Amino acid sequence: MPSVPVQDPAGERANTSPCAGIVGAGIAGLSAAIALRRAGWDVEIFERSQFKNEIGAAISLPSNAARVLDHWQFDLQKAAPVPNQSVRLVSADQLTTISQEDYPDIAAQLGHACWSFHRVDLHRGLRDLATDPAVQDDTFGCPVEVRLGCEAVGVDCNLGKIQLADGRAVVKDLVVIADGAHSRLVGNLIGHEPQLQVAGRSIYRWLVPMSDVLAHAEARKLYVDELPGFLNLQDPAKGVFWISYTCRGGDILNNAVVHRTQAGEGDQDLWHSPVSKEQVLSMLDNFHPSAKSIVNMASEDGIKAHHLFTRPPLASFVRGRAVVVGDAAHAMLPTHAAGGAIAVESAATLEVLFKGVDGTDEAVVSQRLQLFDKLRIPRCNLTMLVSNAGPQALDNPSVIKEVRRFYSGPLPEQGSQPWGAQFRELLFHHDEYRAAELALAQAPLLENGGAKVESCAIVG
Ligand SMILES: Cc1cc2nc3c(=O)[nH]c(=O)nc-3n(C[C@H](O)[C@H](O)[C@H](O)COP(=O)(O)OP(=O)(O)OC[C@H]3O[C@@H](n4cnc5c(N)ncnc54)[C@H](O)[C@@H]3O)c2cc1C
Repeated sequence: MPSVPVQDPAGERANTSPCAGIVGAGIAGLSAAIALRRAGWDVEIFERSQFKNEIGAAISLPSNAARVLDHWQFDLQKAAPVPNQSVRLVSADQLTTISQEDYPDIAAQLGHACWSFHRVDLHRGLRDLATDPAVQDDTFGCPVEVRLGCEAVGVDCNLGKIQLADGRAVVKDLVVIADGAHSRLVGNLIGHEPQLQVAGRSIYRWLVPMSDVLAHAEARKLYVDELPGFLNLQDPAKGVFWISYTCRGGDILNNAVVHRTQAGEGDQDLWHSPVSKEQVLSMLDNFHPSAKSIVNMASEDGIKAHHLFTRPPLASFVRGRAVVVGDAAHAMLPTHAAGGAIAVESAATLEVLFKGVDGTDEAVVSQRLQLFDKLRIPRCNLTMLVSNAGPQALDNPSVIKEVRRFYSGPLPEQGSQPWGAQFRELLFHHDEYRAAELALAQAPLLENGGAKVESCAIVG
């Protein structure tokens, strides 16, 4: 087990473990860090923020991602996710059920349960897995170093060099760009400015104690005697969709109201723009009073708004010694609740492809990154394109044509609903460990590798 630091004070390489630098400690960056640590790499994360703002929202991780967390022995007891076992579509005004699907046996169907987490609980659990010295076995790299308040301003993908805002630069065997939907650094990988597009849709989101909902004579009827999962209240006339589900052991109800962006709401600070209850209620004027009462249960300043963004698909996620993951690689709308999940899946790919790799061997690193592209471009771009095209994605031939540029496998039938059985099968019944192990087994053996290069040093 390596026990020396990745870099010594003189900036010389201090040990023989391969080393990776990750920009961004969101779900994608932390997951990549856990995966590479498990693969025997020493990992350093550079995170711009101080993690002072906790995100008051939940996230649903379907089977494809939940199985990866299980593989890592993620502490489920601490995070207390709620299983997702149903999806209900209900009219906003009359609360009439439009469709309902219960899938209590989803774990048997998809090979694993689907879970809903409070984002803070998921993030903490990932950070623990990355950094805890007690999470260790002989093949792991050192506990991950997370450098908070450490902004990266550029990446030289060919050299594996990360330029930091404080003037220093670090050189790594592998650089993972995970700086989110507003990524600046992905431009260094694709060779031009990323084209972030405003989706014209925004989200109001807030959490309320489930005890308050259950104490309300009318609101409680929306949830009692139902399996945990998505409740989707729809107002098609105004194009408003309110998705709610429970997290943190069922104690918290997560609410997300997707709507056409209103003037003056949301900004680049993704999760933290406050919005008044009056503004939310005016958007929900067609909604039944029992639903509206849940808006009034939000704490003062508890409701936030932000814009949603999309980006055109990338043809490659890799360059030189660098790879881009998460929203930096594929910014998507939350139609299928799949953006974070697919980033966790990509971490599993990194774990399999980089296990035991000599980071100084350029040929092997390059081969593994090419394999990463081969595995991840079809899956990630498929998920992004069907998410960004909205619930009727597959009714649109131009969306299918775009999907077919990257993905050649089966697609759900026209009219299939997000989180319906066919989409669940396509997006969530996927075992990335198996896929990556198969791809690796079929890849040509590289004997002797390529040129050895010296890295893992502070160079400025
Ligand atoms: C309303 C909503 C609901 C969603 N629901 C779901 C869901 O149910 N299921 C699901 O799977 N997905 C969901 N998603 C998508 C999911 O939230 C994202 O895909 C995921 O959070 C992206 O994680 P990330 O690590 O790529 O990016 P981020 O979480 O944005 O993390 C990027 C990190 O990089 C840091 N950073 C940025 N620039 C720099 C820099 N220059 N230097 C250093 N650090 C930097 C940031 O501070 C941040 O910590 C949802 C998204 C939205 C908007």
